[in-house]
Amino acid sequence: MTGIIVVFDFDKTIIELDSDNWVVDELGATNLFNQLLPTMPWNSLMDRMMKELHAQGKTIEDIKEVLRRAPIHPRIVPAIKKAHALGCDLRIVSDANMFFIETILDHLCIRNCFSEINSNPSYVDEQGRLRISPYVDFHSSPHGCTLCPPNMCKGMIIERIQASLAKEGKKSIIYLGDGSGDFCPSLKLNEGDFVMPRKNFPVWDLICENRGLVKAEIEEWTDGEELEHVLLKLVEKINIQENDNSNSIQFFSIDCKFETIPIALHEALPPVLRVHQ
Ligand SMILES: [Mg+2]
Ligand SMILES: [Zn+2]
Repeated sequence: MTGIIVVFDFDKTIIELDSDNWVVDELGATNLFNQLLPTMPWNSLMDRMMKELHAQGKTIEDIKEVLRRAPIHPRIVPAIKKAHALGCDLRIVSDANMFFIETILDHLCIRNCFSEINSNPSYVDEQGRLRISPYVDFHSSPHGCTLCPPNMCKGMIIERIQASLAKEGKKSIIYLGDGSGDFCPSLKLNEGDFVMPRKNFPVWDLICENRGLVKAEIEEWTDGEELEHVLLKLVEKINIQENDNSNSIQFFSIDCKFETIPIALHEALPPVLRVHQ
């Protein structure tokens, strides 16, 4: 086991596109979706779209079939399996919904790699219609974060994970994402954590514009191949750091030239290789 928690966004991070758009487009409802989008929040619109598709005779099996075809870079599944095999605690934080995510993860046979999936709740009702509800009930208890959509603040989920870190014996978080909704959680990360923004995607732009606000180390990636390379490199780096930490406490506590043990250890290590210059 390692002390690493890896938190993945789902859409455009694990799979190559947005699962909501993929289902709507593949089931031929793009025009209606675009027409209704200005009139309601995205999450409510997805519930509405499921109603429309059900009324048109589209079944749960039709939706599953579309989800199973969602494009994914060939290196993503190996990267996830490797990180899991190395003892990382993998989690998902996504503004898609539980049904879409679990259908895809089951299809890819990687559902068991994740200890936790945080997403908008969903279920199939008696009529066979998929119902999707907000992660946060924004009418009764709004989350109050101005950076995030009303139905989900990913930063709050990261704070909850952070609160349990010490109890679970975990030390570092690696967060991977692409969208503007991944900026808030990136700001919650601490020194010793890592954020992996997808290059040239909204979260990367936001991080570049606000570098001073990000305490975590930033490691960008462009595609599944680079995601795999950077993620496994970071896991290796953190593991080496932790081993050094446990092996060198005696030495560092005697050697007084360093002010504090964690900083001294951190600085004593060579910088991580940057894949992208
Ligand atoms: Mg995303
Ligand atoms: Zn937020």
